Amino acid sequence: MYKKLLEKIIYPFMYFVRRERVSTFVKLYEESQWNSINIIENNQFEKIKELIQYHAINSKTYSQFLIKNGVSTNLSTIADFEKIPIMEKSDVNNFLVDAKKNYSSFGSYTVRLTGGSSGVPAVVFVDPECSARSLAARIVCQGWHGVKPSDRQIRLWGRPLVSGRTKAFLKDLLLNRIRLNSQSFEEIKINKTIKKLIKSKPDYIYGYASLIQLVSDKINDKNLKQIFKNIKCVISTSETMSIKQQKAISEKFKCPVVDEYGCSEVDIIAFECPSGSKHIVSDNVFIEIIRFGDEPDGYGQVVITDLNNKLMPMIRYRLGDLVSVEKIKCSCGRGWPCLGRIIGRSQGQYIFSPGKGMVHSQYVVYIIEELVFKGFPIEIFKIIQSDNYNLKIILGLKEGTDLDLGEVSTYFKNESKHVLGEGLICNFEIASVDTMRKDLKNKFCHFESQI
Ligand SMILES: [Zn+2]
Repeated sequence: MYKKLLEKIIYPFMYFVRRERVSTFVKLYEESQWNSINIIENNQFEKIKELIQYHAINSKTYSQFLIKNGVSTNLSTIADFEKIPIMEKSDVNNFLVDAKKNYSSFGSYTVRLTGGSSGVPAVVFVDPECSARSLAARIVCQGWHGVKPSDRQIRLWGRPLVSGRTKAFLKDLLLNRIRLNSQSFEEIKINKTIKKLIKSKPDYIYGYASLIQLVSDKINDKNLKQIFKNIKCVISTSETMSIKQQKAISEKFKCPVVDEYGCSEVDIIAFECPSGSKHIVSDNVFIEIIRFGDEPDGYGQVVITDLNNKLMPMIRYRLGDLVSVEKIKCSCGRGWPCLGRIIGRSQGQYIFSPGKGMVHSQYVVYIIEELVFKGFPIEIFKIIQSDNYNLKIILGLKEGTDLDLGEVSTYFKNESKHVLGEGLICNFEIASVDTMRKDLKNKFCHFESQI
C-alpha cells in the first residue's frame, strides 16, 4: 500500500517541487540503452558540442579557461574535443563563482560534495535536468534486477550525517529507506545492526562493499533465504568489490550482487547488468580511458565528461580511477558500452579508534568535506594513522590562504566525537600542496594506516 503511495504520489510530487523530469528520462533511457554504438556515439558528440558552446557563453571562468588554452568552441570532430585540457579536482572549485551566479535561473539546484577517496575536496553544483537524468539512470539500471524506486532499501552507508540528521531521517522514512551508518558497525553494536536489518525485511541492500561484507560475515543464520525472502539483489557502491567478495556475499544472501560505479561529482557512471558487465550510462557521461604514463600495463585513468551539467562544467575531468582498456562485448545486447575492470578504489580502509574499534576512513573524509563546504580553504588532505592512539590529518591550503588550525581542530573534534569516540588524538598539520600532490600518485592515497 505504502509502495503505491510512494510511486503514485510522493515521488511525482517530490520531482515536481524540484523541477526534475525524472519519468521523462526514465522512458528515454529504457529505449536508448539498446541503441547501436554508432547512434550512441553520434548523440554523445552532439551533446558535447552543445555543452562546450553553452559553458563558453554562460561560464566566464570556463570561457577564459578555453581561451587561455587556445581551444576553439566550435568542435568539428572528437579530436577537437580532445584538445581541451584535462580538468583536475583542484580546478573544480574555480567554477563555483559562476555556478553561484547562475543557479537562480534554473529554479532549483543540488549540491554534491566530493573529496571522497581522492584527498582533494570539491563542491559541485548540479542543475535540475542533470539531477533528474542521474535519478532516471539509477531507476533504469536498478530495474535490470527487478528493483523499483518504491522498494524498501536498507542502506549500509558511510556518511555520518554531520549536519541535517533530522532531515535525512525524515527523508529516509518517507522514501522507504533505512540507513545504517557509522555507529551501527561498531563491534559492540553489530549484532543489534543485524537484527535491525532482518527486521526491516528489505527488498534490496545498497552500500559499501566492505560494510556489506562485514555484515554478511557476521550473519550466521543458515535460513537466510527464509528471513530475506523479498530480497531481489545487493548493490555495492563506492568501493571496488573483489570477485571473491561478490561471490561470498551472493552465496550468503542467495541473490545477485551487483556493482554500481559512480562518484559524487557526476553520480552514477556505470552499472552491472544481469550478464555481469558494467554498462556506461552513455546518455549522462562520456568516458575516456587515458594513459598518463605511470599506470600498470593494460590500464588507463578514467577521464569523465558530464554531458548534462549546465550549472558547472565537468568536462574532461580526471577521476583518477584505474580501469582496464579492454573492449568488452556483453551478451545482454544493450548498446551502452561496457567499462573494463576497475582497480585501486578503496577497500576496507579502516581507522582504529580505542573508543569505537574499527571505523571506516570515509567518515573522517566526510567531515573534511563539510569543512570545505563551510569555507575552510582546504585544497588537498591526507589522513595517516601512525599507531592505535594517534591520527594525523595533513592539509594543503589554497594558494594565498591561511588557516587557524585551532579552529579546525575544535570543529573536527565536535563533529567526530560520535563517530570516533574517546581516546584517539587527532593532530592537524599544514603541508605544501605541491609535495602532497606528488605523493598522491592515484586517488586512493587519502588514507594511510601504519598500524
Ligand atoms: Zn550487459
